[in-house]
Amino acid sequence: MIDYLVVMLEHDSVPFCYYDISQRKDGGLIPLDFLRSAVDLAIRNSLTINFLYGPTDLPSEYEEVIEEAEHMKIMPLRRKRPDDNALAVLDGTEDLRYLDVLGKGDPNNIILRIARDALGSLIDLAQALAGRCKRINIILKDAGRFTEEDLSVYEACLENLRLLLQEEYRKGNFLEINVLSDRVFLTNMNNCDAGVRHLTVAPNGRLYLCPAFYHENEDRSLCGIGESMETGNGRLLELGYAPVCRNCDAWHCKRCLYLNEKLTSEVNTPSRQQCVLAHLEREASRKFLAAVGDETGLSARVAPIVKLDYLDPFDIISDRNVSAGERDEHFAYLLAKPLERVPVKELLRQIYRTDPGMLVRLKEQNARAVDLEEKE
Ligand code: SF4
Repeated sequence: MIDYLVVMLEHDSVPFCYYDISQRKDGGLIPLDFLRSAVDLAIRNSLTINFLYGPTDLPSEYEEVIEEAEHMKIMPLRRKRPDDNALAVLDGTEDLRYLDVLGKGDPNNIILRIARDALGSLIDLAQALAGRCKRINIILKDAGRFTEEDLSVYEACLENLRLLLQEEYRKGNFLEINVLSDRVFLTNMNNCDAGVRHLTVAPNGRLYLCPAFYHENEDRSLCGIGESMETGNGRLLELGYAPVCRNCDAWHCKRCLYLNEKLTSEVNTPSRQQCVLAHLEREASRKFLAAVGDETGLSARVAPIVKLDYLDPFDIISDRNVSAGERDEHFAYLLAKPLERVPVKELLRQIYRTDPGMLVRLKEQNARAVDLEEKE
């Protein structure tokens, strides 16, 4: 169910995820009529809006329309003013002077986009942000191009970040770094969910799964604002229809549909890069929890993270030496970990409340036909 829209205010709106801005054709700001239509669509359907700002200063009538909807602003750090209540995006190559605008009253939440050839500066950037932000969202902007060597470099970066985060926790600064702390606190998948929880309105007045799909190919829109939507087989976007991801417990993974399609030609089949990156982060999160869990009391409040013997679930799924039964056991154990502390009676009550039919199916699976001739 869609619960928010992303509205790109211009072609060059700040990229906040794995995509790059495409070469501008006619570009420019979204026409005011389209902006009004997007805001009306949101209001009529009780949706919130994430407005993506670019480098252009908006005319006052644009700002007035924006204020009509419940919204969040996402803008490049370099154009953010201290009183803008906006989520800032910092490109890893930018001048850190811009950090001075992160002041009191800010959400203190920043997206840090970094390229693989700039990974060497990641720890310095994180250190500079640690005292100013409550949350740092690290995005590897060219994740789709990571080689095995880049993955090893990233693994080393995560190790440094982990030591930094541990130090901050020991000082009582419970900073969030998405690639390390999110997995610790999650109990279920928390992916990007483009096309499932949100859609994007582009400056051409058309809807896309996300800004990346607009930049990749403007002609592949879902529909115009107000037209009935053509999502094709929309169910394919859901986790339940993603055979690899539904067996995975890297719950913080973005499960990026754009990367999936670009690298595997299937929106619901992940690339090796995405899985390995997410599992390196999962492993760093596991070590982080093991290091500070007891002294901060976290261990008593979150489910432990099990050590895995793979970096890509597909390796297990496609391993012919692992039987179907062993595979089920492997994944069921991982996925059910947060439920282990719930008493069986309570669990059964919750199953009944969620889906009474599930109890019927479980009983069928566990029932044995009675043969009266058979001795007990
Ligand atoms: S790590 Fe791979 S399998 Fe797991 S959710 Fe991410 S993309 Fe899917």
